Amino acid sequence: MDFLPENVNQYLEDFSANEDEVLQQLSRETHLKAQMPQMLSGNIQGKFLEMVSRMIAPSRVLEIGTYTGYSAICLAKGLKADGLLYTIDINEELTPMVQKYVALSGKANQVNIMVGNAMSILPGIDEVFDIVFIDADKQNYSNYFDLVIDKVRSGGYIIADNMLWSGKVAQENHDKDTAALHAYNKKLLDDERVDSYILPLRDGLNIARKL
Ligand code: SAH
Ligand code: CA
Repeated sequence: MDFLPENVNQYLEDFSANEDEVLQQLSRETHLKAQMPQMLSGNIQGKFLEMVSRMIAPSRVLEIGTYTGYSAICLAKGLKADGLLYTIDINEELTPMVQKYVALSGKANQVNIMVGNAMSILPGIDEVFDIVFIDADKQNYSNYFDLVIDKVRSGGYIIADNMLWSGKVAQENHDKDTAALHAYNKKLLDDERVDSYILPLRDGLNIARKL
């Protein structure tokens, strides 16, 4: 998963950004208690999401794939005072931890934690989003895009995580997840409703701006 030399990664960990106390605790508890802690965004990507959110100062953010809440808290930091973030996850076992850390982050009144399958929840959300962050089951990425594109304002962004899939998208043979992620990158490149771009940060972020 690391594309950069180990010492460069360590440099980034040490000197790129300070991680606040709540996110440090959340990261610690995730590594102790949750399965697949490597799914957590972490400091380098989390700080990027926070910066993006602060630049846009969104009123409405949608996240698909909460996990333990790390990226949700980072994105929530940039919300306007009356802004709201919706975050969806199918894994109800993680919900108490998400609630706990969202509360500790001071954003409980601005974060709407939704539990269930995003494929069935999304059609029922009636909002116009400034930012959508897609980070759930890889095979549904294109379906998520289709379900959210009409809910994103012109000039809004759809950001999708893990778009390099440890470099596997660039290999010749694709397993199911790799094929789905590659299909997403290709689909957005060809879709005239968006201007898209892959940022090679961590596992790759596809950043699409709705025209
Ligand atoms: N965004 C988080 C990491 C998300 S990990 C962060 O950066 O810290 C991916 C999450 O997607 C997992 O918690 C998993 O339960 C969730 N997920 C998988 N399939 C889903 C579905 N169909 N609907 C909603 N959530 C789903
Ligand atoms: Ca991810």
